[in-house]
Amino acid sequence: MKRTYSCPHCKAILNPSTKIILCAESEGKKGLFLFSPQPGNYDLIVPEGFQLRKKDRVSFSCPVCTRDLTSVRDDSLAEISFTSTSGATGTVAFSRLYGMHATYFITAEDVRSYGEHAANMDLNFWGEGPER
Ligand SMILES: [Zn+2]
Repeated sequence: MKRTYSCPHCKAILNPSTKIILCAESEGKKGLFLFSPQPGNYDLIVPEGFQLRKKDRVSFSCPVCTRDLTSVRDDSLAEISFTSTSGATGTVAFSRLYGMHATYFITAEDVRSYGEHAANMDLNFWGEGPER
């Protein structure tokens, strides 16, 4: 199934080709990161010179409108929008910590998690948890 990923702010398509392109910033360095659009695939292309250690916090922003993509639900996550060819739309939330493999596809009906660290994260997308 093909998914189109877009910026939740300006609606620009973030995977015009085979990869999802996001602006990333960590410890004063900025660059473009390329992600696989396939859920659970954590092959990540990072520019040379970005020396990230596991659990380094990365700030992601839209390469078109430059708005911050940090989740308002949980600031350890970043969020973008998706639309699948079946017509489903929703939000993809993923960990901002480098090397943490946790991704959530959130639609009105359900939340699907991917990545070996997804179960370790204490998240509540249904608004029933304590206020953050
Ligand atoms: Zn944007």
